[in-house]
Amino acid sequence: MSHYKASDRPTHTIEDYLMTMHVMDRDYGEIIAARLAEMFGVTPATVAMTLKRMERDNWITGKGRKDIHLTETGRTAAHSVIRRHMLTEWLLVKLLKTPISKTHDEAHGIEHVISPELEGRLRDVLEDPKVCPHGNPFPGYEYVTSGWPPLTEIPVGQPVVIRRIHEFAEDNQELLNYLFENDIIPGAKTEIVEILPFNQTLSIRINQKVITLGFSTARFIYAEISM
Ligand SMILES: [Zn+2]
Ligand SMILES: [Zn+2]
Repeated sequence: MSHYKASDRPTHTIEDYLMTMHVMDRDYGEIIAARLAEMFGVTPATVAMTLKRMERDNWITGKGRKDIHLTETGRTAAHSVIRRHMLTEWLLVKLLKTPISKTHDEAHGIEHVISPELEGRLRDVLEDPKVCPHGNPFPGYEYVTSGWPPLTEIPVGQPVVIRRIHEFAEDNQELLNYLFENDIIPGAKTEIVEILPFNQTLSIRINQKVITLGFSTARFIYAEISM
């Protein structure tokens, strides 16, 4: 596996942009500047400026805010930071017993300063995980999660096991707290009890409790069909 020298890495901000772009590209097939502004809580003008810098430095190609793509260098850098992010999350969960509703933000403080040597050691100690504690795939392991549909695509009455909470839900702390307070976590067994399309909601039963979720949230939660 190719490694960046730490000195070749972009700034922390650019790394966070690259990580989010990788996720957009991986799961939605396009990088949307307006969503970047929303997700980072900055103005569209700030995003436009950052994108220009990223284009100048050869992390992305694009026509202003349109048709944005990671370059080969950009992709390698994105994979590097997302690996460090996910390994840090595991470190926080396994060693420091951090609840997985809290690891995402904490990881941002650490991931950018992990050296390639430490990254390699972490990967060995953690036994080369294929998904992060939230069930999102490490680069190269996308096939692991590809068989898990979102809750919005599962019929009523079908027993499933929750496997994955999408990164874009990880970024919403309030939502994440709600999910974890209600045991909506990877490994939880559940079943959809009602779908109300006119209301854009569905209800699931988890540990005898019925919880209603909006489609926009349910789309971020993926489950494995139980046999
Ligand atoms: Zn970060
Ligand atoms: Zn994660």
